[in-house]
Amino acid sequence: MNVFEELQRGNVDVLKDKLMTLDSEFCFECDGCGRCCRNQDTILLSPRDIYNVAKSLHLTMKQVIERYTDVYIGRNSRVPVVHLLEGPNKACPFLKGNQCSVHAAKPVVCALYPLGRIYIDGSGSARYFLQDTNCGKHTKRYTVRSWLATFGIPEQDIYFQQWSQVLSEWGNFIRHAEERAVPAPVCWLFWNELYIWLYEKYDMNQDFTTQFERNMNVLSRSKLYYEAYFASPST
Ligand code: SF4
Ligand code: SF4
Repeated sequence: MNVFEELQRGNVDVLKDKLMTLDSEFCFECDGCGRCCRNQDTILLSPRDIYNVAKSLHLTMKQVIERYTDVYIGRNSRVPVVHLLEGPNKACPFLKGNQCSVHAAKPVVCALYPLGRIYIDGSGSARYFLQDTNCGKHTKRYTVRSWLATFGIPEQDIYFQQWSQVLSEWGNFIRHAEERAVPAPVCWLFWNELYIWLYEKYDMNQDFTTQFERNMNVLSRSKLYYEAYFASPST
C-alpha cells in the first residue's frame, strides 16, 4: 500500500499507528542504488521545491514546470497539483546514472525519504511517519530530529504549514463551489488564479520566502472576496 496515494484519496486512517514524534527512532542507511528514483510516480512538487530546482538549473519556475512536470487538478484535493514526470526508462528526469543531478536542491519529499511528512488540519504542526521500505541497510540509527537536521529541513517548517493550510482552504472552497454547481468556467478561473500565484509569480533573483508570503496573502484576500461574493443574496 502506498501511503501517499491513500492520503491523496483522503484516507488519513492509513497513518494510524505510524505517526512519529521528533524523538522516535528508526534505522536506515541509503546504499545509493537509485531504485527510489525509478518507477516513482508520486513525487509532487511544492513551490519551494520548484524554485530550488529552477535556481540550481538556471531556469525559471515556468520552464521547470513545462519541461519536467505535469499539472492537473487533484481528484480529492481539488487544487492544482504539480507532478514530476517520468524521464527515459521510467526514471526521474533528474536521475543521471544512479545519482540525483539536483541533489543539493532536490524536492523535500526526496530528502525526507524514508520519512514522510504531512500536515493534519488543526494539529498545528507537521507530522512524520516512516514509509514502508525494502531498500538500503538498517545499520545507522537516527531520530526524526537528527534525520531532519542531516538534510537541513526545519523541524517546524512554517512554509510547509502555510502551504498545506492554503491548499486545504482553497480545496474546501472549490469543493463547496462545485457542490453548489458553480459553472465549470468559473472553477477554471479559480484554478488559474490559484496556479499562477502558487507556482508562477516568482522572480528568480529575489528571495523565495518573501515572495511566497506575498503570494499567499494575495490568495487569502481573493478567496475572502469570492466567499463574500457567493454569500451575497443576489448570487
Ligand atoms: S529529484 Fe533526485 S532524488 Fe528525487 S526522484 Fe529525482 S533523481 Fe531521485
Ligand atoms: S533510498 Fe533506498 S531505493 Fe533510494 S537510493 Fe537509497 S537505498 Fe536505493
